[in-house]
Amino acid sequence: MSDALSQPTASNNSLHSDECGTLAAPAAFLNVSEDTTDPGGANQHDTPLLQLVNVTKRFGGLAAVNDLSFSLQKGEILGVIGPNGAGKSTMVNLIGGSMAPTSGTIFYQGHDVTRLPPNRRAHLGIVRTFQVTQPFMGLDVRENVMVGAFFGQQGLNRTKALRVADEVLERVNLAHKATFKGDQLTIADRKRLEMARALATNPQLLLLDEVMAGLTATEVAQAVELIKQINITGVTILIIEHIVRAIASVSDRILVLHHGRKIAEDEPSQVLSDPKVIEAYLGERYAKKRIQEDISLYSLTVEDPEQSGEDR
Ligand code: ADP
Ligand code: MG
Repeated sequence: MSDALSQPTASNNSLHSDECGTLAAPAAFLNVSEDTTDPGGANQHDTPLLQLVNVTKRFGGLAAVNDLSFSLQKGEILGVIGPNGAGKSTMVNLIGGSMAPTSGTIFYQGHDVTRLPPNRRAHLGIVRTFQVTQPFMGLDVRENVMVGAFFGQQGLNRTKALRVADEVLERVNLAHKATFKGDQLTIADRKRLEMARALATNPQLLLLDEVMAGLTATEVAQAVELIKQINITGVTILIIEHIVRAIASVSDRILVLHHGRKIAEDEPSQVLSDPKVIEAYLGERYAKKRIQEDISLYSLTVEDPEQSGEDR
């Protein structure tokens, strides 16, 4: 595919798991700012932070992610949308490392991380949130965030982890509930906790899987602001969201998945008025009507994937 760009050779750049769990990455990988060359001669600064090349994930006969290629530059916010079952969460699982692709390669800072386990990816700065929030119910909010800090940042002692947790809880507006247990939290609070846990790992690439689902309009607006702030601090973000208005307002580019395949990738206004995308969301019958009436998806509120999926 045209956007597959120049592919680093996996043999030169692979990161290998080892028995003791220490990082077997080339030194240049851990500090790219000091190494401005790569084996292909291109400047490292042009190397995408993340690059998927022809990635496929099959579950039996179903290709949940199908020959997907795209790249993400450092500092970008990439929105990913698509109807229910399009393969968005599977894609996050593949990038985060909780699933391995059936075929294809995932590069991070130019190095092959396709087979690297999630904890090793977290140490490299790749961190995800879960669509279904999974707080440790026996722990309070602060302790949950400390788990994130320990998980993502190597060698953090308890005092530092506590400080990180408190800072992050302030940022996500959850400090006043630091001693609440997981089961005492509202949906919005659980989403904030999910963000806080991810932030406590000190991510470079943050994968957000539907962190706004179930939130009120005000809470969505707060979440959008928070994501923008996180991005300003230098964190690259891949965000999956059904709330089109929200994702359009926060993303530099939007990629659309449908039946595991990329059907569009462009700036938000282009993507959301693309007939292919409207049809994927609303079904052919409604899409024709919408196009005739010259209404783009941008002006719709596709907040409920179940409802918008009725015509599929
Ligand atoms: P999305 O997040 O876009 O709603 P998913 O990535 O969750 O989509 O799912 C894509 C497809 O893969 C769906 O058909 C789903 O049923 C299937 N799928 C996801 N995870 C698994 C799994 N672990 N085993 C089998 N099928 C799965
Ligand atoms: Mg999903």
